[in-house]
Amino acid sequence: MTADDSNAPLRAAAALDREKALAFTAVAAVNWCERRQRDDLDGVAVLRSLMTAAAWTARARAHHSQPAFAVHELIDLFDEPVGDWLPTGPRMVLVEDGEATPLCEEMAAEAGAAPSMEVEQRVLLRAMDHLGVGTDAPAKYTAFRRFLVEHASARQVEAARIARSVGLDLAELYQEVSSHAVTAVDGKDCFYPCPRCRWPMKVTETRVRCASSSPCRQAGATFARTDDGLLALGKLAAPDLVPVAGWAALRQGVWRYTTLPGLEELDLERRLVKLGADVELWPFIDRYDLDVRLGGQHWRVDVKDHASVPRLARHLADKPASESIWIVVPDHKRDQVAMLRSLVPAELGYRFASSSEFVRLVEVAL
Ligand SMILES: [Zn+2]
Repeated sequence: MTADDSNAPLRAAAALDREKALAFTAVAAVNWCERRQRDDLDGVAVLRSLMTAAAWTARARAHHSQPAFAVHELIDLFDEPVGDWLPTGPRMVLVEDGEATPLCEEMAAEAGAAPSMEVEQRVLLRAMDHLGVGTDAPAKYTAFRRFLVEHASARQVEAARIARSVGLDLAELYQEVSSHAVTAVDGKDCFYPCPRCRWPMKVTETRVRCASSSPCRQAGATFARTDDGLLALGKLAAPDLVPVAGWAALRQGVWRYTTLPGLEELDLERRLVKLGADVELWPFIDRYDLDVRLGGQHWRVDVKDHASVPRLARHLADKPASESIWIVVPDHKRDQVAMLRSLVPAELGYRFASSSEFVRLVEVAL
């Protein structure tokens, strides 16, 4: 078996490429229809989104041995049923009478600013669907979720086992280690997992660092390359090299939306367990993040690691809590707590704290 063949299970699943093609094309169709009304859209931005949509559509069609479309051909297809030009796609049309259809607008909004990552993260919904309501479903879901947080890079065999446990293919969760993270050592391709999040770090001529995560970099996941190996530039010790063969890295969307916030959730769990609390993670298949019990008291916690406070406040306002929920933000975002308190009315059922404030609150309740 060649090295290429061993990575065959990691190549993108056709369904994942189809979903990405649909998300990018919905965004492109909305941009195309609104190109004259919106100040934030210039011609270059519209063209760029059309080209991205055409590229993903080509990729999805290639799974079915169908040829690519040019951008102008794709525009002409916006008002044809999607299933006619995107294999196994829905019957809906994206544009009617020159306007994006409500379904198309909804898909574009769901795709957000990073459609590829949003689509990758939906894999967690498919896992939940697969687990259904069986009595062992919550325990299986929690084990699966914990694995994703602790294994941003993993041996392919272990990753395939956890994927199967929730009815997924390996390629829906993991991909090949990116070429930006690969370095040859003694003729063997290797990578450095980030000492904080375990995702393969980006390698340049002089540096190795966790390129896309500022909490990792702030924690010290930045190293200088020397003839004797890595030199730590922060508080974290240099990780050992891992051979690329037989290993895989989480897809970026899963890493961004599950691993990174999950590290905060596991850290909070560790601190609360140290106090003697009983902590259950992602109870009832993810109704919230941590269920905490100590000394007859009970707290429900959702950890929120969002960049935009107004957006988080709007999201909470749209979804009043049916039971009292503590919204806990990572310590490096503690400034958000006061803003959240002022933006979200108390009657919605949310209370706010940073991780350390919440740990102290549980401690004094003892
Ligand atoms: Zn990292």
